[in-house]
Amino acid sequence: PSAMREVMLEIPKVRWSDIGGMEDVKQQLQEAVIWPQKHGDRLISIGAQPIRGVLLYGPPGCSKTLLARACASEAGLNFIAVKGPELFSKWVGESEKAVQSLFARARAAAPSIVFFDEIDALAVARSSGDTGGLSVGDRVMSQLLTEMDGLKPSTGVSVIAATNRPDIIDPALLRPGRFDRQLYVGPPDEVSREKIFKIQLRNTPYSPLVKLETLAARTPSYTGADISAVCRVAAMSALEEDLNAVQVEVRHFERALAEVAPSNPGPSPEFF
Ligand code: ATP
Repeated sequence: PSAMREVMLEIPKVRWSDIGGMEDVKQQLQEAVIWPQKHGDRLISIGAQPIRGVLLYGPPGCSKTLLARACASEAGLNFIAVKGPELFSKWVGESEKAVQSLFARARAAAPSIVFFDEIDALAVARSSGDTGGLSVGDRVMSQLLTEMDGLKPSTGVSVIAATNRPDIIDPALLRPGRFDRQLYVGPPDEVSREKIFKIQLRNTPYSPLVKLETLAARTPSYTGADISAVCRVAAMSALEEDLNAVQVEVRHFERALAEVAPSNPGPSPEFF
């Protein structure tokens, strides 16, 4: 049984403009991921070390996955996504092979991005390993380090990982030449929330009485994913009231705000 049924290869269609706020992270990703792929010669000529891997960290639902996909999309790179837990097989040796073949696929698909979501699963698997001998987490970790250490800028493979548990990431992963650029992807501020409402309502007609700046002001500690839920619930509420409704009214947003509580935005920024 393959441990990696869910691996996807694609060029995503997420643009920077589909992501509200996060301007700073977008710029950093541009320089750390896209420049080495597109302008590697320029980096070398100016004596700048290309970044090997980027770790995106922060609470759930704040656009880590979107940002990784946008990198690929904006630069025309193939995108291979795998969730940390999918790397593990109970069959000895299978998990290492999975990592190996993942990188082989990425090299074959170059220029490409490998995206490891929930990279913290590695740490969990390591600590819960059998007593004595190397746990499956240890073996996957060591294979991952081998693969990353073997990546040359000319290979055309970038690696991005994401986690909402940076506190349990093995420091070995963060050493130079590995995930040596760490970017915090935090909850949106009010200005960003207004942009996210605008993006999420792009295809939704709504009353001119609905003010996005008011919605943004009323949703402190809502994540991007929460805002997306508010918009969906508001739209559905309009249809529930009248299947022929042509636009979403203020009262539908009121209902949605009452219904969708902010998901726990996680520990305070100091944690991250
Ligand atoms: P997780 O840790 O749960 O995987 P994540 O940080 O990777 O979360 P995403 O999967 O990128 O979050 O975001 C979830 C959904 O929330 C997106 O598909 C999108 O609909 C919405 N969303 C989150 N942030 C934004 C944003 N800044 N702009 C627009 N939409 C957003």
